[in-house]
Amino acid sequence: MNLFDHANVKADDIPIKALDGIGPRSEQQLSALGICSLQDILHYYPADYERYEKESPINSLRGGDRAAIRALIETAPQVHGFGKNAMLSFRVSDTDGRIRIVYFHVPYLKNSIHKGDEKVFRGRVRDGGKYGLSMDQPEMYDPSDYRKMIDNIKPVYSLPQGMGQKRFSAAVKQALSYADSVPEYLSERYLPKDSMSKAEALRQIHFPDSPELLSRARERLVLEEFICFILKVRLLKNDSKGEENACPAHRRELADKAINLLPFTLTDGQKKAFEEIASDMAGPSRMSRLLQGDVGSGKTAVAFLALLLAAENGFQAAFMAPTEVLAEQHFQKLSALLDSWNWPLKIHLLTSSVKASEKKIIRGEIESGQADIVIGTHAIIQEKVVFRRLGLVITDEQHRFGVRQRSILAEKGNQPHMLVMSATPIPRTLAIILYGDLDVSLLKERPAGRSEIKNAVVSPAARKSAYELMMREADAGRQSYIICPLVEEGESVQAENATDYYERLRSILPPKYKLGLLHGRMKADEKNNIMREFAAGRISILVATTVVEVGVDVPSATVMMVENAERFGLAQLHQLRGRVGRGKAQSYAIFVDGSGRGEKNKRLEILSKTNDGFMIAEEDLKLRGPGDLFGIRQSGEMHFSLGDIYSDHALLLKAAGIASQIQQEDPLLEKNHHSALKAYLMEALPAETAL
Ligand code: ADP
Ligand code: MG
Repeated sequence: MNLFDHANVKADDIPIKALDGIGPRSEQQLSALGICSLQDILHYYPADYERYEKESPINSLRGGDRAAIRALIETAPQVHGFGKNAMLSFRVSDTDGRIRIVYFHVPYLKNSIHKGDEKVFRGRVRDGGKYGLSMDQPEMYDPSDYRKMIDNIKPVYSLPQGMGQKRFSAAVKQALSYADSVPEYLSERYLPKDSMSKAEALRQIHFPDSPELLSRARERLVLEEFICFILKVRLLKNDSKGEENACPAHRRELADKAINLLPFTLTDGQKKAFEEIASDMAGPSRMSRLLQGDVGSGKTAVAFLALLLAAENGFQAAFMAPTEVLAEQHFQKLSALLDSWNWPLKIHLLTSSVKASEKKIIRGEIESGQADIVIGTHAIIQEKVVFRRLGLVITDEQHRFGVRQRSILAEKGNQPHMLVMSATPIPRTLAIILYGDLDVSLLKERPAGRSEIKNAVVSPAARKSAYELMMREADAGRQSYIICPLVEEGESVQAENATDYYERLRSILPPKYKLGLLHGRMKADEKNNIMREFAAGRISILVATTVVEVGVDVPSATVMMVENAERFGLAQLHQLRGRVGRGKAQSYAIFVDGSGRGEKNKRLEILSKTNDGFMIAEEDLKLRGPGDLFGIRQSGEMHFSLGDIYSDHALLLKAAGIASQIQQEDPLLEKNHHSALKAYLMEALPAETAL
């Protein structure tokens, strides 16, 4: 089909396979990313950008730099080795510097490199010690061609393995001729005066003509993303304020007894939070509360008490975790406590890996009312589960859940109380916008008797001493985590890397140290098994991807080492670090800076300076500043596709204002000119984009 003959067709109606270069295999890969139509591909924004920098003088280069140089080929290329493995090297110079250029596996290049030619070489500089500086496998250009590319900004997309940047960019370019048919959800009069049109913003976000235009395009799209998000939260939220308490909980014996029986004394913050919850649940209106506390502050214990409180008042209670590993862990812990106290409450684990036959039984008990407490993942909200008298819904690490998922669960009962828990340190002004008008309980202090985590930012050369530390800890019966680098190519490559790392480590360490491997590609029960072995101390060192990021609690784990820490967001590193320092023993966090740069990485240094999540978020914000477009995108945080609540907080505030204005004029978005917007909010916008 010739795509471009149809002037009136909308980007939403055209499947991506209509694009040149997108065959059935690519189509499948892209649909896994949620890209099915031209409109989808236009909304798949670059993860980063690359710029062709001006040429630098050779004598200004240092090991680790990425640079372009314009230089004369001084020596004829020499070939070392044979055939495919041949290595090619030659020397180049500019007015006052010299450097060696090296290519591998490309012997045929020899014929195109001539002594006396001038070329531009672009790549990473390596410091070979006494052998001097070299550039390995640089891109090579004719100087006049390079001139034209300077200051060009090239998009870099996060793509599945086998899908090249070039091919994807070419597809986006074709799709962009349909940018004008992508609907404007927001009427111009709501947007700031100098706002770009949606179509122009889409063009500039993919192929920016200048950093300024990129920045304006991004602003336009982030603003829209935030406005839509806020409107959606407000529309979905059944306004619980003033809604009457349909599940009053006046008895308070079991919960109080539990407080005395717990293996530790509650912190003042935990006590206060539980008092607030109990008084909400006994009060005149339905509870809608956020429990916010830094990693390790002990939110789970408060949640357990709330579950017991609901149960002793004859209500069923559900506790929803974002991962199976975490759900399993909460389940194990609460069951063990109840068993040891000999309390006959019926508690179930419901995740997608529970066998179908077992699930059926569990669903039956939930429906008949025999089940008191259900702990699980999103499996709990599947339609088939019907509660008899659901009175309380708790979601843990709730930014991983969509608003819609949360409200589906809430609808399963007769207006159950809602408690959401989060470790994400969000400044108050933003929290009010993001969470609507939830009441907030804050856990400020951590449980007493913990020693501060010792932090170190190190180069890869320090790995050996890190392994030695891990072995010493293992000898003392304690455990370590090693987190493998984030990779852009996606989860399967991530899993492969973790597996390689694990194999390599196993060949280095003495066999008496038991290693474990955990990544997203493993089956749920394999994962749970490994976590159980680790928690029980039968695995001493766990090589993992970020699957352990959220919530996992193994108090005897004392070392957290993160490889290529520079690729992670600070908030994410803080979460990862939160996996240690949960017991009495001294804990250590080791951030390996694999960037190869000599100077200290300022962002990582923030982590060594403080263990306070709020402070880290603030410092990070200062360092990056708003509109910091060229850094690696923060991942793992709120699932906005472009916006970042920290660095774009000014836009978030602006969006809140605009959303209010829209709502004032048309509270339920019923007017005609809002129908596209409303349809988009209700259907197209995936629940996961929301908190
Ligand atoms: P988070 O707030 O990150 O979810 P957890 O609830 O997982 O933290 O608690 C972290 C660890 O602290 C757990 O091992 C828990 O048993 C322990 N803990 C919780 N409250 C206390 C307390 N008051 N005193 C001592 N240890 C506690
Ligand atoms: Mg937790």
